[in-house]
This record gives sequence, C-alpha cells and structure tokens, in this order.
Amino acid sequence: MLPLFKSQKLMLSLMALTFLVTLLLFGYVRIEAKIIDLPTYHALLESGSIQKAVVEENEVVLYTSNDRYIIIKDGIDIHTLLKHVPIEVKTQNPLLQELILIGVLLGAMLLLLLYARKKRAQELQKESEKEQKAYAFDPFGASIIRPVRSRITFKDVAGIHDVKEELEEIVDFLKNPLKYKRYGITLPRGVLLIGPPGVGKTMIAKAVAGEASVPFFYQSGATFVQIYVGMGAKRVKELFSQAKANAPSIIFIDEIDAVGRARGGMRNDERESTLNQLLTEMDGFEESSGVIVIAATNKIEIIDEALLRSGRFDRRVFISLPDKNDRQEILKAYLQGKPTNVNVEELATMSVGFSGAALATLVNEAAINALRRSAQTIEQSDFMAVRQKVLMGKKKVLSFSNEEKKIQALYQAAKALSAYWFEIDFDKITIVNDRLKDMDAEIESKTHMLSKIKVYLSGSAATKMVYHEKFSNATEDLSRAIEIAKTMVEAYGMGEKMIPNEGDVMLILENAQKEIAHFLEGMGKALDVIANELIEKESITKLRIKEIMDEIL
Ligand code: ADP
Repeated sequence: MLPLFKSQKLMLSLMALTFLVTLLLFGYVRIEAKIIDLPTYHALLESGSIQKAVVEENEVVLYTSNDRYIIIKDGIDIHTLLKHVPIEVKTQNPLLQELILIGVLLGAMLLLLLYARKKRAQELQKESEKEQKAYAFDPFGASIIRPVRSRITFKDVAGIHDVKEELEEIVDFLKNPLKYKRYGITLPRGVLLIGPPGVGKTMIAKAVAGEASVPFFYQSGATFVQIYVGMGAKRVKELFSQAKANAPSIIFIDEIDAVGRARGGMRNDERESTLNQLLTEMDGFEESSGVIVIAATNKIEIIDEALLRSGRFDRRVFISLPDKNDRQEILKAYLQGKPTNVNVEELATMSVGFSGAALATLVNEAAINALRRSAQTIEQSDFMAVRQKVLMGKKKVLSFSNEEKKIQALYQAAKALSAYWFEIDFDKITIVNDRLKDMDAEIESKTHMLSKIKVYLSGSAATKMVYHEKFSNATEDLSRAIEIAKTMVEAYGMGEKMIPNEGDVMLILENAQKEIAHFLEGMGKALDVIANELIEKESITKLRIKEIMDEIL
C-alpha cells in the first residue's frame, strides 16, 4: 500500500493543527460575543445598531455591524426586540451542536488527510520517475528483475523427445517440491543445456517453466559481464533473491560461458567476481528452495570446472542438431495451418545440419517465396529455391552430398562402436556430432583416458581402412585426442618418463592409433550396419548398438 505520510510525525502535526484551528474557531464564537446587561441592551436597541438577533435556548445573540452580544433570554421582551430587528430562532440542542462540531472536525481532518495523501503520491511518482531516469543509464534498462509467465509447453517443442523426458523430472519437482522433500530426494540445483545455437535450448527451458507453471527469470550471461564494474555480482544476487521470493521458479542463464569461462589466461575481474557470486548463490540455496537454475552453452569445454562440480550444474543435457526424424517433426509443426503441397520427409532429407531455428526460417522463407509467385500453396520448389539462402546465413551448417554422407556415417559409426566397446559413456551419436559423457569423472584412470583417445581416433582409422584415405572431418577429434594425450603426460605423469616430454605424447597417440585400427579390422560387419543406420536415421543410441552387437557376435 502507498505509505500515507513520509513519517508519523507529519501526520501527528497535521492532526494537532486541525484540532487547534477548530478549537480557535469554536472559541472565537464564544469569546468574541460579549455578555451584556439590561441597560446596555436597551441602549443598543435604542441606538438602532442591532441588525439581527438570534434566539437560542437560554440566550439571545445580538449582531451589530462589528460585534456580537449575548443577553439572557428571560430578561428581555422578545416582542419589542422583534419590532426593531429580524429574529432568527435556533432550534438545535447543544448536543446536536456538539455533534455537528465533531462532524466538521472529522470532515476537516479527512480533507487534510486526503490532501496529504495526494501530495505523497505525487512525491512518490516524482521519486520513481527520478529512479527510472537513473536506471536509464543502467545497461539492463530498469534494474528491476521481473519474471515472465511462460506459455510454452513441451508440446510446442517438436522432436527432441529424449531431452523432454530428461526434464520431465524437473517439472515434477517444481510442481510438487514437498513430495521430493518428504522422501529426502535431492535434485540438481542446476541443469546445463549444451548444444549448438538454435536447437531450442531457450525454448525448452521456457517449456519447463510453462509445464510447471512457475515464474521464469531470463538472464543472458553476456549482459552480466558487459556492465559496470561490480554490477554483475550485484545483478546475480538480485536475480537469486527475486527467484527465491517467487519460488518455485526457474532461473535461465543463456550463454553462461560468458560468465563461466574457465579462469586463467586473460584475467577479467568483473567476470570473476560475477562467477564467484554465482557459485556462492548456488551453494547457498537449499534443495528445498524450489529454485532451479537452467543454463545454456554451446561450448562445455570452456566452462570453468567449478561450475560443473557437484551441487552446481551437475545435471547436463546435450541437445544436438535435430536428426531426420526430429527435423520432420519440426517441419510439420511449422507447416501446420499453411497451405502446402510438399513431401515433408524429402524436406527433412534435404535439410541435414539445419537447427530448429534454421528450419523455422526455412519454412518462413519458402512461404514468402510462394507468396511472391502469387501461388496458392507452398511447393517443394519453394523450399529448394530458398534452401541455399537459409544455408548461407549459417556458418557451420553441414550439407552433405551423398558420397560425403557415406564417409561421415562411417566415421561416426566407428566412434559409436568404439565408444560402446571401450565403455565411454554416451546416449546417442548422430551423423553430425557426438556427445561423449566424459566430463564427470573427478579421478580418471589412465585406461579410461586411453580409451577416449582411441574413440577420437577411431573415425579416421575407419576411413583409412575403408577408403585408404583420411578426410578433413577428423580435425576436431584429432585435436581432442592430442589434448588428452598431452594432459596425461604433462599433468598426470602417465608417460613412460616422469618428466613431461613430447616423445611420450607421441607414443601414447601412436599406440592408440595402432590398437584402434586393429580393433576396427575385425569389426567390418558391425561398422557397416551402424553406418547404414546412421545414413538412414542420422542418429544411433547406445542401446541400439548393443542390440546390433548382440546380433552379430
Ligand atoms: P537456442 O537457445 O538453443 O539458441 P532457441 O531456443 O532460442 O535456441 O530457438 C530458437 C527458435 O528456433 C525457437 O524460438 C523456435 O522458434 C525454433 N526452434 C528451435 N528448436 C525447436 C524445436 N525443437 N521445436 C520447435 N521450434 C524450435
């Protein structure tokens, strides 16, 4: 409610003033009227100076031009008086008079109160205008963090069923926090969504909020660090306190890598203080606070390890570019309600490497193209006409020829197979990217690290075996393998010699290369089946690989 007065003091003084004024008015009437005796009355009457008389219960008040006089009613002859001046008769009794007086008093006070209230409201308005002007210099706009109510649900997010399934539990927790508390189940405070731009990370976070009908606080990591010194940490604090006040709720931090980039190298105090505040806040809230922090990044490799430690963002959900099935569902969702004459499956085939966002753009551009032709329906040819344009906008969207697709499928099949064989965990590997779950281990064995190197080298080993050729698609995996070998030798002393040396790094890589090549030689059939499945479906799960292997072996 609007505070009526700035202070109680002001209110008390106003009341006292009203009271005093009323008393004075009341007193004035009483004091100013002089009580006179009979001779004076006669003298006044004779002189003709009485202009009016008011007869009250026991007395008569006489009004001259300047004064008022009171005389006892019984002492005079009213008839004589009436002959000289007009007489007014007051019928009210004193009690009524008192009541009227109190009424007037209260009325006056009320008026004063209303006036003061209006004044205070105006003051507050001015103050808030001033504040808003001040905030105009704040790069966040108004510095008030407000949540939104998301209307997006899981139904709006097409495809990516596995991701939705994984987040289902978070929704349930937000809906029934007490249930989880009762059973002592602890849920992650932070969920990290990892995936390339445009795959729907923001959308799915909003859908979690929408499904659970809880407030959604959006914050971009980049804006945290672009602001004035010291503001980032303050902003984080504010964000968490607002979220807690609105719990159960969701905080979504987009591009968290802007804040949570691994420390070291170029120091950036502002980012560090923001990151430290974020860590403090995440450690500080209890599981039962009902606040879930969802963050998004497309580069988990550069995230500061502190953020990934237990109790922080310890739940990770990878969202890859949509596979053919997903693309079909996304395309269908965007084509819904539009007059079309297209084969969605074909469209899905021709849009390998498109993200959900790119597919949305593709449909939109095709519709515009149809409109330009003044056509009644959107045709396949409209999609073909704009495909290149949409592709151009994307930096790294992959668009394979059939031959390239075969090579890439073999490459990824080798990775999927060796990851399965050497027990490097993953959920699914797609034709365009893979996500090995290798970020979790605090203590990692030499064998496990060697296995990862083998997996990263397996793709090029397979193409060498089948095509007697190496291809450029191996670049990223090769540098990953080299990175691990270097860490093994330089940081963990896992080389032949205790002193780090390049020879040991080379030895690890060469041995791994030989071993993986040897392994793949005996796996031609499995590679074939998996590669074909990748060509057809574009993704394969660990479970499916197990089935294939059980069949073959
Ligand atoms: P990210 O946060 O991963 O960069 P966004 O969530 O911002 O991606 O997605 C951008 C847009 O792309 C969304 O607003 C939506 O229109 C579309 N989009 C992406 N993925 C999907 C999907 N699976 N289903 C429907 N639309 C999607």
